[in-house]
Amino acid sequence: MRNDRTNRNLWTHSASPAPETAPLSGDATCQVAIVGGGFTGLSAALHLAEAGIDCILLEAMEIGFGGSGRNVGLVNAGMWMRPDDIVAAMGETVGGRLVEELGDGPAQVFALIEKHAIDCEAIRNGTLHLAVGEAGVKEVAIRAAQWRRRGAPVEALAADRTAALTGARGFAGALLDRRAGTVQPLGYAHGLARAAIAAGARVFTATPVLDGRSDGNSVILRTANGEVRAGKLLLASNAYSGVAPSMPWSGHRDELVPMYYFQFATRPLPPDLASRILPEGHGCWDTGLVMTSFRTDKAGRLVFGSIGALDTLGRTAHEAFARRSLRALFPFLGNVDFEYWWDGKIGMTANNLPSFHRPEKNIWSIAGYNGRGISPGTVFGHALAQVTLGNDEAMMLPVTQPAPDALRAVKSAFYDLGAAAKHFIDRRLG
Ligand SMILES: Cc1cc2nc3c(=O)[nH]c(=O)nc-3n(C[C@H](O)[C@H](O)[C@H](O)COP(=O)(O)OP(=O)(O)OC[C@H]3O[C@@H](n4cnc5c(N)ncnc54)[C@H](O)[C@@H]3O)c2cc1C
Repeated sequence: MRNDRTNRNLWTHSASPAPETAPLSGDATCQVAIVGGGFTGLSAALHLAEAGIDCILLEAMEIGFGGSGRNVGLVNAGMWMRPDDIVAAMGETVGGRLVEELGDGPAQVFALIEKHAIDCEAIRNGTLHLAVGEAGVKEVAIRAAQWRRRGAPVEALAADRTAALTGARGFAGALLDRRAGTVQPLGYAHGLARAAIAAGARVFTATPVLDGRSDGNSVILRTANGEVRAGKLLLASNAYSGVAPSMPWSGHRDELVPMYYFQFATRPLPPDLASRILPEGHGCWDTGLVMTSFRTDKAGRLVFGSIGALDTLGRTAHEAFARRSLRALFPFLGNVDFEYWWDGKIGMTANNLPSFHRPEKNIWSIAGYNGRGISPGTVFGHALAQVTLGNDEAMMLPVTQPAPDALRAVKSAFYDLGAAAKHFIDRRLG
């Protein structure tokens, strides 16, 4: 990825091409301006353009530069929190609706992929939430029961079935969620951008919004080479809101705690080895205290990830942990070489729920997906488009006031150092 400190992101090498875009040059006007070219902003732009709204999307770097081009590619249902916990935190009406609509999130993602023929290695065959130890089995059983009560097609698997579906040693069970699946995430972002442009959205890349002001009726956004005047503004810069530090209205910038997540991808494995890993194409993550994930890609690479940043002292510990974990999970692989490695920022919130602000009557901002953003970004982007069309009820989140977190730097470092320390000493699967 251009301008990236870890320019070894597999997804940038294997994604279907991004549509041709250019920086903004000169002044422009539109009905709705969108800041941020990730799943949220792109979904909003696509749905607005399809509704005949003249919209402009401004992306500081390139399409999918943020979390959308760096993630694991697990298209999961719901949020990170258990469904019952969401209802307990938000109440039956609001929480119940959020759970239901995000439960259908993967369906919305895969429907868009089909409708717009998005080339993104999409597989809708379920994901596996892998149980680590007895505590993991309990966790998976609770989630299975809560989702099944809501009619979702989920299944708690025993250890032997989990071993057969993963090819991995060491897991005590799993939750198989058949609503879910995997994508090449940057390819999905590129496809959304292509579809949005085809529907009439104007998308400008390498165009950070540097500043903005409101005159009561319109919002004026300043960029290096021109201003955009819009009737309404959607801020979708999420955990990457720091790209342009003086961007106004982004209460999220001081609210979110950044948590880094890294991934290492092997070279394509020989077919006889590749066929022994995740034979049905599931993507996985586990219940471990410091979560890990693994999946394969279309070329037969194995992609392993966990919490931590690759530009800190933790890099050596994380890489050694990735090697050790793969050896323990898949002893038949022997020593593997990593061809790609990268990391990305996840926006965490204090209550583990996404947050939605309305800093002015014609400006909306959403962020803080806590690591679950492919389906939510797509669903919330759609809802934001509806909100700007005057349908406030479309957004299933309450509007809240920004709650700046003075300890965000400390908390972020805690995630990072805690994960590095855990990875340094952890031989739980070895
Ligand atoms: C490593 C990693 C693994 C993850 N794995 C998964 C997963 O498997 N499944 C899942 O569902 N979710 C996952 N997530 C979460 C998911 O990727 C994010 O929640 C989602 O991408 C957020 O999308 P977004 O569009 O809201 O924000 P982003 O994709 O972060 O996009 C924000 C964009 O705003 C731009 N921007 C910022 N400031 C400005 C400005 N001033 N002017 C113009 N543009 C600006 C940025 O450049 C960026 O491109 C993961 C996240 C990470 C980092």
